[in-house]
Amino acid sequence: MSRSLSLSTKIIVAVTLFFFAALGTITYFNYTSMQNFAKKSEEEKSEQLLNSIEPIISINMFLGMDAPMRDYLNKIVKTTPMILKLIVKDNGGKVHFSYISPKYKTQNITPIELKHTIRDKLIPEPVGEIEMAYSNAKYSEIVDRYKHFSFQLLLAAFALVLLLIILLKKALAPLKELARELKSYDPMKSNFSKKRIEGEGEIHIIQNAVVDMIEKIQGYTDRLFKLNLELEKKVKERTETIENTNSQLRKEIEERKRAEEALKYANRMLEKLSTTDSLTGLYNRRVFEQNFNRFWKIAVRERRPISVILCDIDHFKKINDTYGHQAGDVCLREFAEILLKCVSRPMDMVARYGGEEFIFLLPDTPLPGAVTIANEIQLLLRERNENGKTKIKMTTSIGISSIIPDNLDESRHLILSADRALYDAKKSGRNRIVTNPL
Ligand code: GH3
Ligand code: MG
Ligand code: MG
Repeated sequence: MSRSLSLSTKIIVAVTLFFFAALGTITYFNYTSMQNFAKKSEEEKSEQLLNSIEPIISINMFLGMDAPMRDYLNKIVKTTPMILKLIVKDNGGKVHFSYISPKYKTQNITPIELKHTIRDKLIPEPVGEIEMAYSNAKYSEIVDRYKHFSFQLLLAAFALVLLLIILLKKALAPLKELARELKSYDPMKSNFSKKRIEGEGEIHIIQNAVVDMIEKIQGYTDRLFKLNLELEKKVKERTETIENTNSQLRKEIEERKRAEEALKYANRMLEKLSTTDSLTGLYNRRVFEQNFNRFWKIAVRERRPISVILCDIDHFKKINDTYGHQAGDVCLREFAEILLKCVSRPMDMVARYGGEEFIFLLPDTPLPGAVTIANEIQLLLRERNENGKTKIKMTTSIGISSIIPDNLDESRHLILSADRALYDAKKSGRNRIVTNPL
């Protein structure tokens, strides 16, 4: 049986097959037993008949009374239409009575053929023989009637099966409906329309149980849906809070970064301001003094020479007075540029020491090295005066001092000595270099 058949169809087919099988078996056994029974009773009847007429025939034959025997047998034949043939013969084969019904062998029935030997009690030999054909019409009739009955029974069974199918279909219809509804049921759409029904039948119980189950599922689904919504809402709120906090944090970080940058810039500016001279861009006196102390210590430790050059622009007051303070500033910048060009070693430095006074720190440099730098300053300044770009001429007086120090406390002496050399240069006519080594 195909797997795709529905339960109701399977039940109907099974019931029908079983019904027909049972009915067929019962009918067949009934039919055969009826047939046997009918046949047997007919045979017995004809045997009885033959046994009852046999003594009368025997005595008539013995007495040679053929006429009364024939009368008797004619009566028998007339009153018993089941006898289709009756022939009485004597010992010599002579026929004493013969009756053959027109129905004999024309009927669509098989007669019971009997042969009986006629005996007389007085003599041992047989007197003659009786041949009889007995109609089994009754038997056929019974069998026919049974056939009829069987056919009617079958028809009734068929009608019953039909009725059963209709009843089953009707009875299973709500179950089918329920199955269809269950198949298309979707808890999200809540599309189950069946209601609880009154009744004690199995289908009622099933439907009510299914409705209960669906209601429970629906309840859980609704709760789940609600919980999901709440969860989504909470997640959204949390995400928003986190995003807000994040953007606030980002803002704060950016602000802090900007503040840090500004602070760094301010610090850089401050450092620059604290280390450089704003007019010339050279290091200021403070940086010079820090470096001088450091390199003095190194020079003492390593017993290496250290030199300082002091440059002072000659008659600068006059320049200011003649060309104005701003022109004086320009000159100071130009002078600073020239000085800067003369610094080549990484450790050498030049700083603005006072108004128009500048100082070189030349670690690990003996006096001749310092004189070379001083000469270069004079040379560059001369070139500047002669290049025709400016009408303001500048000269400078230079004082140099140099030492290989052995005492940490003597550092001031070197600068004082350079200052004295400068003083000497001024005094002896300006625009010159005076050395004053210690
Ligand atoms: P000397 O040859 O003896 O050095 O004479 P001097 O005029 O250069 O020296 P003095 O000390 O008499 O004058 C220095 C002048 O330098 C006075 C001051 O106005 C000027 N000065 C100092 N600092 C600045 C500055 O930053 N800018 C300008 N334009 N002038 C300055
Ligand atoms: Mg001066
Ligand atoms: Mg001066």
